[in-house]
Amino acid sequence: MKFGTKAIHAGVEPDPTTGAIMTPIYQTSTYVQESPGKHKGYEYSRTHNPTRTALQNALAALENARHGICYASGLAATDAILKLFQPGDEILATNDLYGGTYRIFTKVFESFGLRFRFVDLSDAAELEAALSEKTKLIWIETPTNPLLRLIDIEAVTKLARSRGILTCVDNTFASPYLQNPLDQGADLVLHSVTKYLGGHSDTVMGAILLNDDETAQRLRFIQNACGAVPGPQDCFLVLRGIKTLHLRMERHCENALKVARFLEHHPKVGRVYYPGLESHPGHALAARQMRGFGGMVSFELTGDDYAEAVRVMESFGVFSLGESLGGVESLCTHPASMTHASIPKAEREKSGLKDTLIRLSVGVEDAEDLIEDLRQAIAQVEVVSV
Ligand code: PLP
Repeated sequence: MKFGTKAIHAGVEPDPTTGAIMTPIYQTSTYVQESPGKHKGYEYSRTHNPTRTALQNALAALENARHGICYASGLAATDAILKLFQPGDEILATNDLYGGTYRIFTKVFESFGLRFRFVDLSDAAELEAALSEKTKLIWIETPTNPLLRLIDIEAVTKLARSRGILTCVDNTFASPYLQNPLDQGADLVLHSVTKYLGGHSDTVMGAILLNDDETAQRLRFIQNACGAVPGPQDCFLVLRGIKTLHLRMERHCENALKVARFLEHHPKVGRVYYPGLESHPGHALAARQMRGFGGMVSFELTGDDYAEAVRVMESFGVFSLGESLGGVESLCTHPASMTHASIPKAEREKSGLKDTLIRLSVGVEDAEDLIEDLRQAIAQVEVVSV
């Protein structure tokens, strides 16, 4: 089955009691049993819920996975993965990654004895040198947040597998429409479902997709024991959201390329980070590894002036200034003070993230309006600086 058909049909069946084509919102905490232990597969909604089951099956189909498990947020999913490990285990992660992931690694799980090292996973020699007997997991984000660097999933997972090390790919930025990391050798895929999968900025949710039965069983045990489950109403919203994932992603990619090309040629714009531009160092890898270049674009103004970057962000009319990404509406984020504020400034700078970087989640509006909005916002600083 092709992607668009799967997005609409996979995992969902008409409701067996009424024939309702949309999966009902099973807003229930418990399920009546005929006699102790004799039930219809559902006992308590922390453990299972039919709306959640339908969503998990649908997401698993989109990532070509045997198992899907949904969580209360993307970070709750990260939390569950980290609980697979023991004190003393080491986790290697890419050095440009979502600030909240850095925060849960260093400010929560380090105190439980896990060790984290941040390396440039696109540098094979640096990766080899960082591996040790204790390395148990490699955490990949590609394209990375917010610098949109590319990491070769096949190369990293091949090396990891030869050393018995698990790999997890945070596939939030690409979405399953553009990239399926399990097919490229990864053991675990993580999504902040909040973003492209939900697609409408109305839900916070996470998911883990995987093939290994034993790990899936362990993750389900951890979820039931610790309780980070999404509610059925949110599952319904995401079930609806993913039905248009393929259509939205096409438009996100198309608009982002137009925006990136506009920025690339603007005299007041310095660096533009977008894997779809030929000037991007990961362009060839992105063309090979992904089915499109995504909807995220980051850029800096010439002169690297913080006040000017702020002025541009304050001047948008169509782009809204806010955290998050992946919704139908265009958003603009200041990573240094918002999504990545929990990474110390020195660490941010080491990975190349400047305080003047502006990150755009390019939505599915008309590209001409988005470009016009960028043109007028950037003109504010051109006027001021003359
Ligand atoms: N991974 C990435 C790449 C993200 O951008 C985010 C959130 O911005 C997360 C994970 C965490 O997801 P959530 O906000 O749903 O907890």
